[in-house]
Amino acid sequence: MSERVIPEAVLARRPNYETQAREALNMPPEWRIMSWEAKGDHPNYYGVLVTGAIPGPPISRGKNKGRPDWSKRTLEASITLTKEAEKAWLAAWERDTGYCHRCLGSGQKFKSWSSDHGTAYKPCPHCGATGLAQAKAA
Ligand SMILES: [Zn+2]
Repeated sequence: MSERVIPEAVLARRPNYETQAREALNMPPEWRIMSWEAKGDHPNYYGVLVTGAIPGPPISRGKNKGRPDWSKRTLEASITLTKEAEKAWLAAWERDTGYCHRCLGSGQKFKSWSSDHGTAYKPCPHCGATGLAQAKAA
């Protein structure tokens, strides 16, 4: 297996902290994470505090030309995403999309990479390589 195809529906709603925070805070698609911080002490992390906003227009000059101007951000907001909330959100994500959140619907998981052979994949153990949501989402 060398090709990994991720469905369009998943690309539009990737199962990550940014999407989860955006949905929990009811923010528009342009809203992006600008910082995050693990909460709790190793190894007992209980979640992650994310802060995001809509950045200003790209910087027009200087060494940061082309980068988003975070100094002109709007809709700044923070939220702590606990492990429990993440688990529930991922289960809901699988119910809504019908896809496996681990392999993003491809049925494949990263195995290795080399300059000779490129990226190699192995079957996703979470969904049994079907790419589909599991009844008992982890
Ligand atoms: Zn999977």
